[in-house]
Amino acid sequence: NVKDKGRSGYAFFHPEMEEKSLEQVLLENELRKAIELEQFHLDYQPKVDFSTGELVGMEALVRWDHPDLGRIPPNQFIPLAEETGLIVPLGEWVLRRGCEQNKEWQEKGHSPMRLAVNLSVKQLEHPGIVQTIKKVLQETKLDPNWLELEVTESIFADVEHAASLLQEIRNLGVHISIDDFGTGYSSFSYIKHLPVDTLKIDSSFIRDIHQNEESQAIVKAVLTLAKSLSINVIAEGIENKEQFNLLNEDGCQQGQGFLFSKPLSSQDFEKYLQNQ
Ligand code: C2E
Ligand code: MG
Ligand code: MG
Ligand code: MG
Repeated sequence: NVKDKGRSGYAFFHPEMEEKSLEQVLLENELRKAIELEQFHLDYQPKVDFSTGELVGMEALVRWDHPDLGRIPPNQFIPLAEETGLIVPLGEWVLRRGCEQNKEWQEKGHSPMRLAVNLSVKQLEHPGIVQTIKKVLQETKLDPNWLELEVTESIFADVEHAASLLQEIRNLGVHISIDDFGTGYSSFSYIKHLPVDTLKIDSSFIRDIHQNEESQAIVKAVLTLAKSLSINVIAEGIENKEQFNLLNEDGCQQGQGFLFSKPLSSQDFEKYLQNQ
């Protein structure tokens, strides 16, 4: 267990490491190796249309199975990858693998689906990001229409820069969605100025939507906003029927969550595609 390994708080090695725990340093080394050895794979979670139950797309989620430490969850290694800059090569690997896989499914004859890939703000801050996306699309020969990039509201710390960057990416023909919507910086008033296709309502509002009037009010407000701006909406983290029913009554049309399916391995996702 990674958590129990390096709780020692003593200062060691170089001054620049002061802030890092031994655990972090070890994990950082492992992460570096894992990127070189490509020890990652992607799982895919279906996005579903409420009225038909049909698949409308899928989200790629990176998985790291460490040979000794076992599965390390993204919430543990993504922040570390961001701090160390390793998110840039890791993120490029994820993007390429996702696009390759999507293209492969299309070539096998499955109906084309939009695949969403998460982009961290650190990747977007990297000067080569637009070029990287362009290159990966060319190399994998995936039609950009079948790629969606999920970004979080944290990029809107600098709204003007975010708007022009997203516009550049969107000009490639790629779709943009705002992940974890409602938890961050975006104010409802400036969403209309941003080149965005979809808002993903954060799972924290869905989790207690059936028990908490404030959550339900926020969800309704997002749905109203999106409708008036002709932006698509999807709810994430739907686990039960009560949540689903409320969302459906409120006019939400798409969702993602354990109620429909957990993230699946590529093999299992392909079976899911076959059953569509
Ligand atoms: P996210 O992009 O908001 O992804 C949704 C997370 O919720 C995923 O966790 C997914 O497995 C989980 N989830 C889906 N449905 C349900 C549900 O009904 N109930 C609950 N409790 N959870 C559900 P995961 O895979 O552990 O990823 C966590 C976060 O790590 C992601 O949040 C995303 O921010 C980040 N992440 C994952 N893969 C990547 C990646 O390839 N690149 C980057 N930059 N970040 C990634
Ligand atoms: Mg996401
Ligand atoms: Mg999310
Ligand atoms: Mg998230």
